Amino acid sequence: MSRTPTTRATTALCGIVLHPASHTRSPAMHGAAFRAAGIDATYLAFDVPPESLSAAIAGARALGMRQLAVSLPHKEAVMHHLDVIDPVARRIGAVNTVTLREGRLEGSNTDWSGAVRALERETALDAARAVVLGAGGTARAMVHGLRERGAQVTVLNRTPERAQALAAELGAVAGGPLTALGETPHDVLVNTTSVGLHDDASPVPAEAIAPEAVVMDAVYEPERTRFLRDAEARGARTVTGRWMLVYQAAEQFELWTGKKAPVQAMAAAFDATGNA
Ligand code: NAP
Repeated sequence: MSRTPTTRATTALCGIVLHPASHTRSPAMHGAAFRAAGIDATYLAFDVPPESLSAAIAGARALGMRQLAVSLPHKEAVMHHLDVIDPVARRIGAVNTVTLREGRLEGSNTDWSGAVRALERETALDAARAVVLGAGGTARAMVHGLRERGAQVTVLNRTPERAQALAAELGAVAGGPLTALGETPHDVLVNTTSVGLHDDASPVPAEAIAPEAVVMDAVYEPERTRFLRDAEARGARTVTGRWMLVYQAAEQFELWTGKKAPVQAMAAAFDATGNA
């Protein structure tokens, strides 16, 4: 029997809007999930600059696209173009998933639940003392997820005023600048700054990382960042940003299909795409 995927008149269309789009591994991950689960759907990446977002969403609506993932730089702007936004996405202030239900475009956020599932591979979060490094969009999703699971959360950021604003809004404690990590006890430590993305650098000195902590980096390219290598050298258990990305995609799959996501197939597809 041929294993060539076929596209039929009834094949569902899903995709991702982002800009630029060349680096995304979402088509590979979701395509693998559809094949593993036997779902008749196809998944494409759309490079949409900010000025075309409104037209792109109107197009998705007109074409009856079933689900559209939303990545940078559109996660906030897309909220102006939807029929319904779930309260959690509104609280976080960002939508990364648009699902078509009964003709309506519904916005939700799976970054927080994906991040939590990634951490829960290694540890329970209830009553954990968690420190989040960074106060941008990813930090908002992370802090919400950790609070939702019952963790006590302290936010540290290069610009402490941003940590203060985020913490006040989402029920965390503002712990000051990144240099305060050494004096901040932590069972869980997450880097949501972009440090490590473009350079082999860490946002904090290695000796500030607690050896008994579970440590996760949102940066997934490279997968083993300086921050995670330092944490491992300290004896900490680590979770890479790859798992955060895989689980936010798994949550998207589950939202649309109502089926349990084939997480291992999605992770294998992430690995197989490399820098493609
Ligand atoms: P963002 O909103 O632009 O926030 C960037 C954060 O990084 C801010 O807290 C900023 O501090 C801090 N920062 C930037 N340069 C710094 C430096 N040189 N030293 C110290 N802090 C610095 O970005 P974002 O959208 O939250 O994304 C953050 C990272 O998460 C990116 O690397 C992204 O690729 C990754 N991410 C991963 C996933 C996943 O699924 N694995 C999902 C989403 C995002 P200031 O406030 O002081 O400027």
